[in-house]
Amino acid sequence: MTGTILIVDSVATNRIVLRMKLGAACYDVLQAADGASVLRMARRYQPDLILLDGALEDADVPELCAALRDHPLTAQVPVVVMTAGHDPHLPLRALRAGAVDVLAKPVEDSVLLAHVRGLLRAKEAMEELRQRGTSCQPFGMAEPGAGFTTPARIALVAPRAELALAWRQALSPFLRDELVVYDRAQALAGASDNAADLYVVAADLARHGDGLQLLSELRSRTASRHSAICMVLPARGHDLAAMALDLGADALIPDRFDPQELALRLQAQLRRKQESDRLRASVRDGLRLALTDPLTGLHNRRYAMPQLAQIEASARQTGRAFAVMVVDLDHFKDVNDTWGHAAGDTVLTELAQRMRQVVRPSDLLARIGGEEFLIVLPETGLTDARRKAEELRHLAGATPVRLASGQPIQVTLSIGLAVGGGDSSGPDAEGLVARADRALLSAKAEGRNQVTVSMIAA
Ligand code: GH3
Ligand code: MG
Ligand code: MG
Repeated sequence: MTGTILIVDSVATNRIVLRMKLGAACYDVLQAADGASVLRMARRYQPDLILLDGALEDADVPELCAALRDHPLTAQVPVVVMTAGHDPHLPLRALRAGAVDVLAKPVEDSVLLAHVRGLLRAKEAMEELRQRGTSCQPFGMAEPGAGFTTPARIALVAPRAELALAWRQALSPFLRDELVVYDRAQALAGASDNAADLYVVAADLARHGDGLQLLSELRSRTASRHSAICMVLPARGHDLAAMALDLGADALIPDRFDPQELALRLQAQLRRKQESDRLRASVRDGLRLALTDPLTGLHNRRYAMPQLAQIEASARQTGRAFAVMVVDLDHFKDVNDTWGHAAGDTVLTELAQRMRQVVRPSDLLARIGGEEFLIVLPETGLTDARRKAEELRHLAGATPVRLASGQPIQVTLSIGLAVGGGDSSGPDAEGLVARADRALLSAKAEGRNQVTVSMIAA
């Protein structure tokens, strides 16, 4: 994976060493030596990651983090602060100011590169979601509100329950989230349907390094795939650090942690997780909206046509018949002309609702034109299809639609019906819709409020 990394250090030799390491791993490297250049370069080049030394000569590092976080051009750029530990307040202040992580120097090369890989992977995934989210919002929906209002669930998985309980006790004054204690089996059981938002997992559970197995399992389960996972490394666990990150850990935690600092790091992870949940949901909504008619909530033509082709393909395989109905409101223009467009909308919505009542879950129902609907009934022959169509015609015509004002509006339907499948020489899906359309024209010509069957297909 390539990416552009801005390294910030007041000491030239430190920058050179870091640039060589990152350059050797094929990253593009930018350098800055002071606070003002960081802001200028970050806004100009929008790097994928900023590695910020914790002791800049001319700038307060947490203030610099806040300035990056608060500027729209750099708000999404992850900032990692590397500290030599001279200022004990730096980790807390930097995390509060928006740093995604604070690493204690010296960071071993392999671990640093694994951190970089992980952060760039996460950034790229987020970016992709953002792009898909934007391109999937065809109706210009407003962005859903940011962040979660409910507390998150954090699962603590330690080698012994007493240790996990001690973690919980230490963390709870600093977090409003729910902290649950799990053993390995409970963590996995929950991961299949009711995953935690964040897992804090000891790298050593029953054996050295077996927490990494749990990490891989959690990453592979659908429900916990997107959870944040932090690995607690034992003092002699450096051999596991790079591997844990490459297996998908979002952060590494020393086993002698400062609870307040850890709480902030967990909150940073939760913010990222919640942002990516929100983006994924907006992509899903966008996809759904792109295939849904906004007025009636029915599927639209874009969704219906490929579905129809699938129903036709499976009918060819099974040799079973299927039916296509094109349904059109009679004299609908008169409804609009007499009662107004809004009343027309109410009629369309109400009739869509009545159509929902007659279709089965396996049937396809879509609004394919202004006042025109398509219904496809898999595994249905002519007799049943005609009965269904009559039922629908009756359901529309028997009770007038009532406007909010109480005004009743009488509407009727004309339905063209064609039956296909069961015979490989029959028309394809589009041909069948064309036949149903012609049958619909006959229904209109013969006086409306009736079901007409395409004779060729009958
Ligand atoms: P016919 O019995 O021959 O089908 O006559 P009709 O008046 O129903 O058919 P026509 O095609 O002349 O008119 C359809 C009308 O449907 C015209 C259009 O303004 C109206 N229409 C299409 N989409 C909508 C909509 O979303 N809302 C409303 N209120 N009206 C719509
Ligand atoms: Mg009409
Ligand atoms: Mg029409």
